[in-house]
Amino acid sequence: MAFPETVNLPFNGEIIRSRFVQRKPGELETAEEGYWALVQGDSLVLAGGGLYAGLLPAELAIASGPIVFGEWDGRPVRVATVSRDAQLPEGFAAIQWMELPDDLATLYGLARQIVFWERLSSLCSRCGGSTTRIPFSWGKKCGGCGHEHFPHIHPCVIVLVKRGDEFLLARKPEWAAGRYSLVAGFVDFGESLEECVEREVLEETGIKVTNARYVGSQNWPFPSQLMAGFVADYVSGEIEIDGNELEDAGWFTREKMPDSLPPQRSIARWIIDNHALGKGKSGK
Ligand SMILES: [Zn+2]
Repeated sequence: MAFPETVNLPFNGEIIRSRFVQRKPGELETAEEGYWALVQGDSLVLAGGGLYAGLLPAELAIASGPIVFGEWDGRPVRVATVSRDAQLPEGFAAIQWMELPDDLATLYGLARQIVFWERLSSLCSRCGGSTTRIPFSWGKKCGGCGHEHFPHIHPCVIVLVKRGDEFLLARKPEWAAGRYSLVAGFVDFGESLEECVEREVLEETGIKVTNARYVGSQNWPFPSQLMAGFVADYVSGEIEIDGNELEDAGWFTREKMPDSLPPQRSIARWIIDNHALGKGKSGK
C-alpha cells in the first residue's frame, strides 16, 4: 500500500482534518465564543450529542483551562477540564471516549493529551520551580533554572509475529477474560523501532523474530503514546512468557482464534484484521 490506512484510525489527525485546524497557545487570541472540548476523566462532556458552543453556564465549573487550541468548524475551540465528581448541568452529558464517534473521539484524544501535559509541566522536573509558557508553543520554561520543557510523546512498537499461517497473540492478566492481542512495548534508550520489535518479542515471549516491517501508526492518548505498527517473521524459539507483563501467549490461525480481540478502532485490531486475517479495510 502506498500510504498506510491507519491514517483513518481515530486519534490520528486526518480524521478531523476537514473540521479542525490546530493552533498552539497564543496563536489564536480571541474572545469570540466558540466550542468547548470539556474533558472529564475518560469522557468528553457534550451537549445535545455534540460539542457545546457558547458561554458556559455558571453551574458548570471548570477545573483547569480554558486554552484555545484550534478551530472547529471555523470557530475557536477551547479545552478545559471538569472535575471527575462534578455534577453536570441539565442538558450536558459525559460520554466515555469508547462511545464517541470517530471525530469526537479524536478531538477528545487531543484535548486529553493537552490537559495531561499542562498538569505535568506546571512544575519543573529538573529543579521543582514554577514554569511559564513559551509563547506560541506547548513548551514551558522554568522560572528557577531556565530549563525548557516540551511535550513528551512516547514511541511504542506493536507487532504481529507470523510463522507461516500462524500468528502470535498474547494476553495480559488485567485484560477481559479470553482477550488476546499483539505484543507491544516502549522504545528504550539507544534503540531503533526495529530493534525494539526484536527485543520486546524476545523478552515477553522467548521468540526470536526478524524482518520487522512498518505497516502504520496510531496516536494513542492514554496518556501520550505513538504506536508504531509492525509485522515481523518468526526465526526460532519456543513460547516462554516472562510472567511479569504477560499471562499467556500462543500461536493462532484464522481457524483457531481467541474468544476476544482488541477493540475496533485500535491499531492492534487493525493489524490483526489486515495482516493476520486479511479482512481488508477494517478498523474505521
Ligand atoms: Zn527548573
